[in-house]
Amino acid sequence: MQTHHSHCDRRHARSCSAPDTAPMRFSLDATDGRARAATIDLPHGTLTTPVFMPVGTQGTVKAMTNALLEDIGAQIVLGNTYHLYLRPGADIIARAGGLHRFSAWQRPFLTDSGGYQVYSLAKLRTLNDSGVSFQSHVDGSMVEFTPEKVVAFQELLGVDIMMQLDECPPTTADRDQITAAVQRSLLWAARSREAWRRDECALFGIVQGGLHADLRAQSAAGLIALDLPGYALGGFSVGEDMQQSYPAIAAAAALLPPDRPRYLMGIGFPEDIVRAAGFGLDMFDCVLPTRCARNGLCFYSGGRLRIKNACYRDDMSPIDPQCTCYACRTVSRAYLRHLFLANEITACVLMTIHNLHYYLELCRGMRAAIMAGRFREFHDGFLASPAGRAHGAAEAAGGPACAQARRKT
Ligand SMILES: [Zn+2]
Repeated sequence: MQTHHSHCDRRHARSCSAPDTAPMRFSLDATDGRARAATIDLPHGTLTTPVFMPVGTQGTVKAMTNALLEDIGAQIVLGNTYHLYLRPGADIIARAGGLHRFSAWQRPFLTDSGGYQVYSLAKLRTLNDSGVSFQSHVDGSMVEFTPEKVVAFQELLGVDIMMQLDECPPTTADRDQITAAVQRSLLWAARSREAWRRDECALFGIVQGGLHADLRAQSAAGLIALDLPGYALGGFSVGEDMQQSYPAIAAAAALLPPDRPRYLMGIGFPEDIVRAAGFGLDMFDCVLPTRCARNGLCFYSGGRLRIKNACYRDDMSPIDPQCTCYACRTVSRAYLRHLFLANEITACVLMTIHNLHYYLELCRGMRAAIMAGRFREFHDGFLASPAGRAHGAAEAAGGPACAQARRKT
């Protein structure tokens, strides 16, 4: 009851004054096996977990407005330091008064540090213990990221949760390379902590180590010694390895302190999220629901639905008869197929609403199950359902664009 009252107070306070500046507060509401239902109080609102965070790389979730996000119950949006730093840049966002005012998104923001993007998008020039220099993919200019600079930029954005700069080699990199990345990321975590000034921007550390249990343990221990507000598992978002990754994710999750949020970065398909919640992870993000929507692929209780397929030409039923989202309440598969084939933007909007709603509803279902002590039943039931078994089929149905969507942008 105490928690409930404090939520009401906070909501009231937000409606008539600036967001509070209290540091993040984490409380466990229930556990069921290793699965957890938690409450995370942040300056711009409260998260209830397990929580899916729609990806809004450029400070907007593609094809969505803030009102649409609120309507489907999005609790937090994920932005990206690399992209926002390069464009529009710190001066513009500072002049607007931070990322919340600039974007008019009132609920919490988490920003990734940009480490992943530096390695995947930019032309890397130098990488050493001091930081990383790269050529901007936007205008070709040379940019340097250091752990300190990345923390300062995220504090300027005023986000609720900021990620440390890390080095993320692919899971398939050789052991020496992953060992070096673990050590450098730890060094950078310590420097990030040192540079951290604003208590209300919670700093999360990122556990690296690929699929090597000993390196993951070394990384987690080093980060835990820094006593950070939250911890993330990075470097797992390589699609082909999921079956191999599950045991490594489970083992890494077990290393993290029970009284802090645990964030699994960049994963994944609905079944991946259900499995990971079963390992005790709390927070998830992935471009899959938004990117697949723009490619005409919908996640639904029947598995995956490729809207351009000829069988939907005269199908007057909604994407998912069980879904309560705006798209399913109002339009048919036939109409969506028509919009999609006619290259109408509205097709992307409606299918994005549906896919994000599906992911959020999945998390709400997991939370209810954990609170009721029947998560195992939910987990097994979901994985045995057409939606949970669609994994392999999805790659085929989704085509290259969707297989690629597992990677974060
Ligand atoms: Zn729907």
